[in-house]
Formats: sequence, structure tokens, C-alpha cells
Amino acid sequence: MSRPSFESDFTRSLPADPEARNGVRQVTGSCYSRVLPTKVSKPQLVAHASEVADLLDLPDDIWKSKEFVEAMAGNRQLDGMDPYATCYGGHQFGNWAGQLGDGRAINLGEIVNQNQERWVLQLKGAGPTPYSRSADGLAVLRSSVREFLCSEAMHHLGVPTTRALSLVLTGDQVMRDMFYSGNPQLEPGAIVCRVAPSFTRFGSFQIFTSRGEIDVLKQLAGYTLRLNFPHLGEPSPDAYAALFDEVCQKTAKMIVHWMRVGFVHGVMNTDNMSILGLTIDYGPYGWLENYDPNWTPNTTDASGRRYRFGHQPQIALWNLAQLGNAIYPLVNQTEPLEESLGRYQKTFEEEWQSMIASKLGFNGFDPKTDQEITSELFAILQLAETDMTIFFRNLAKIDVHHFGRSKEEPELPSQLKDAYYVQEQLTEEVVGRTTRWIELYAQRASSDGNSIEDRQDRMNAVNPKYVLRNYLAQLAIDKSEKGDHSQVLELLEVLRRPYDEQPGKEEFARRRPDWARNRPGCSMLSCSS
Ligand code: AMP
Ligand code: MG
Repeated sequence: MSRPSFESDFTRSLPADPEARNGVRQVTGSCYSRVLPTKVSKPQLVAHASEVADLLDLPDDIWKSKEFVEAMAGNRQLDGMDPYATCYGGHQFGNWAGQLGDGRAINLGEIVNQNQERWVLQLKGAGPTPYSRSADGLAVLRSSVREFLCSEAMHHLGVPTTRALSLVLTGDQVMRDMFYSGNPQLEPGAIVCRVAPSFTRFGSFQIFTSRGEIDVLKQLAGYTLRLNFPHLGEPSPDAYAALFDEVCQKTAKMIVHWMRVGFVHGVMNTDNMSILGLTIDYGPYGWLENYDPNWTPNTTDASGRRYRFGHQPQIALWNLAQLGNAIYPLVNQTEPLEESLGRYQKTFEEEWQSMIASKLGFNGFDPKTDQEITSELFAILQLAETDMTIFFRNLAKIDVHHFGRSKEEPELPSQLKDAYYVQEQLTEEVVGRTTRWIELYAQRASSDGNSIEDRQDRMNAVNPKYVLRNYLAQLAIDKSEKGDHSQVLELLEVLRRPYDEQPGKEEFARRRPDWARNRPGCSMLSCSS
């Protein structure tokens, strides 16, 4: 078996914390601290993503190697690894929180694949680092299953995201108070190996500017430019402004994808925003079941709902403005940065319109008609609890060329009935208004002149049948905690092809059952992971 070869350009290129001691502290003037993962008792591989292994050119039989599984649990280092935790800061819930950093993530090093792509491998839950503050540096199976499955589900949905290579149980128990309610419990410890071209966050830049460490800021920004944005040229004020502009564009596109698939991140703090516009840090995220722009999965966010579904585009803009402030010392002009923020809004609007047009099966977004059609759509989706994923998927099944509403007794098209959670909410008024919208929609869609098959194929390519419904993840976790990991593997498999019909797997496409409506883990999540 060929061995993966690791290197660490990051640690070679950027200033290191001179202190070797692994204790909690403020780390100044450096981008990272070298730190070894904590040894665990009994590493056991639960799952791996073969597509991610392929990205890294890992051989298929690598998972049979005890040495490699040990490395994915942090128990041993492979040749070329130079483990470290990075220093970053961030705004949490709108307030500057100072130094945060990789409190439980340890970067192992990088693999350069045969296409010359450089991938960083990072263990999440590998033990304390200088950035662990008052926490233990560990992760539990519950949150690790959620991170592992969601990273891969998002990728296969076409949403930019960090990836997940492996999920291992550590064999150790971890104490967690899931809802901060004074009921701590022991849970199985686990580690996910995450993979991305860079784990640099908005907060990675913010920390240096906040401390006036402009020299370090420049080194990190120069490194990011060279490594991740080489087409922007040599470091210069213009190149840094262009870097910021690209981050704005990439972020706009990422958020449009979230809105398309009904994903709510849950903790869009600036330390959880990737400089590459990747979805990062899967914690108390959730998937919209009934369409509700005010929904947030995060119990910590329940009062302010800062990170609710419908607020994500504005929060991303706010976060980008903070990044703009952090990058300002390298650009020394506010105009280009402000222009980029303006372009974020423009790009978001354009991408959102073309996204919603594609979800509806239109050839393009025609403001003359489609402004009204979409605003009425989002109104009717909220009249009764309506499953967003099922609604859009099944809308494609309606024959728009022959849709006629019976004037006397409007009735919902049978194709949409599965989308409704509470039949009693389907009053005459709701049904009437909804069918009026469908009639409007059908006229508009048929005017594009596409065949029913063509329209359906195009809609099915953007409206997933399978998403990581909150209750599905929880059912898989329940089994996994008892030692049966089959459902994690089955979900991983189904979520590889979210747009395919997959006969026999329909149970994974059903709307949330009633028992899950208020069950912890299914409808409410916390940061305690
Ligand atoms: P999050 O809200 O999960 O993105 O985390 C915010 C900060 O807390 C980051 O610096 C994390 O590394 C840190 N953190 C979260 N959980 C833990 C943990 N169990 N141990 C140490 N640090 C943690
Ligand atoms: Mg985080």
C-alpha cells in the first residue's frame, strides 16, 4: 500500500507561537501553535467518505491500515505531519469575542494530490489546545455524526463546503450538558477528520487587526493570496482589495445555495465563516422542514433569532463588513471595500433570482412576472406548515400545460398533498389561495414552452429529494450510540445522490414524523457538542 505523504506549507510559511507548552493562553504575534492531538484509548473507524479519500489519492485499502486509523484518531503522526492549532478571533452573536482559535481542532498537515491540489487535513475533537479556553477540546459522537454526514450531504447537493474524510470513535467518554440544563451525561467521544483547501476564517484576519499586529495580518493575507487566490497576483493593496471582492462573491453564492436547499447554519459568527466561501463548522445547524424564514435550530439563538433562515443573507453581509474592516489596513482605502459589499448584494440578488427561477423550472427570472409569483409563493408556503423540500420536488410533477382549477371547489393538486404537515390547516381559504398561485405558476411555466419531462428534469436537478432531515440524523445517532452504525452508512449512501429518485429509499424523503416535532436533536440543538 502506498503511503500518503504529508507536508506542512502552512507551518513552514507563517509565524509560529514560540511557546511550546500546551496550556490555555493568549497567543500573540503568531498564526498558530504547534500542538499534538491527545492520545485516545481505542480508535474505531465508524465511517469514511471514499470520494474524499479519492481527492487525497488515498488507496482504497487504507482503511485496513491500523496505522492510518490511529492517525485519524490523533494517536500517531504520519511522516511529514506537523500538527498545529490556529489562532483566530471573531464576532459571536454580533459582539467582538477576542481570541477564539482552534479550541478542539488540530491540523495535521497537507496532502498535495496528483492534480497539484493542496488539501489540509484537520481533526475535530482531538484534545485541548492553547485556544480551548474553559472547554475540553473534545467532541462527541452525536455532533461528529452530524458534522460528518452534513459535510458530505452538502457537497453532493452542490453546496460549497469543507469535506469530511473519516469518523472515528475514540473509545473514551466525554461529559456533555446537551442543553446547559444542569444534566451532564457521559457520551461517546469521536473525531472527524475534516478536509479543505484552507480552514482560514474571517476571524483569522480579524484577530491580528484587532491587536494591531498588521505585520502578521499581512503575512496571513499574503499566504492566502498566494495559495488560494494565485490568479489575483502578487501582494499589493489592489490584490488585497480583489481578494476581499472574491470572498464577497463566493460568500454570496454559498448563501444562495443555503437558501436553495433550506439549510440553516445556526451559528454564523465571523469565526465560522470561511475565507473560501465554504460552509464550515457544522454545529447546531438544521434543515427547514416546514418553510419558515424565522426558524433557527440553535437554542442559544432562540431569543434573538439572529441566525434564522431568512436572515442569513444579511448576516453574511454584516460578517463581510467585519472582514472588510480587518483587511482595511492592507488596502488603505474604503471605496473598493465598500464597492465589494455593494457587489455582494447585487450578486446575491442576481444569483437568488436565477436560483428561484430554476427551482420553479423557468428558463430565467423575468422580473415583470416573477417578482410577484415568488413573493406570493413564499406567502402561500407559510399559510399552512408546508415541507419546503417536498413542495418543490413535487411541484415538478404538476403538468403545467393542463392545469386547471375547478372554479367551484378548489382542490390542492394530489402531487402536493404530501408536503403538508397538518391537514386541518388546509382551510378553504388556504386551499383557494394556494391553487390560485399554482394556476398563476402553471401559466407562467407553460409560457416557457418546455415539455413536462424537460421541465421536470431541470427542476429535479436543483430541488433535492433527499436532504439530511434533522430527525434522520438523530435516528442514526440514536442507533450509533448503541453501537449500530448502519444508519450512518445508509444515510451517507443515500445522500450521495440527493437528486436521484432512488427507489426503495423513499422513507428518507418523508416529511418529519409527528414524534420528532419537539424532540431534542430533531428540532432543537445547542452548541454543546
Ligand atoms: P463554535 O461556536 O463551535 O464555532 O466554537 C467557538 C469557539 O469555541 C472556537 O474557538 C472553538 O474551537 C471553541 N470550542 C468549541 N467547543 C469546544 C470544546 N469542546 N473544547 C474546546 N474548544 C471548543
Ligand atoms: Mg467554530
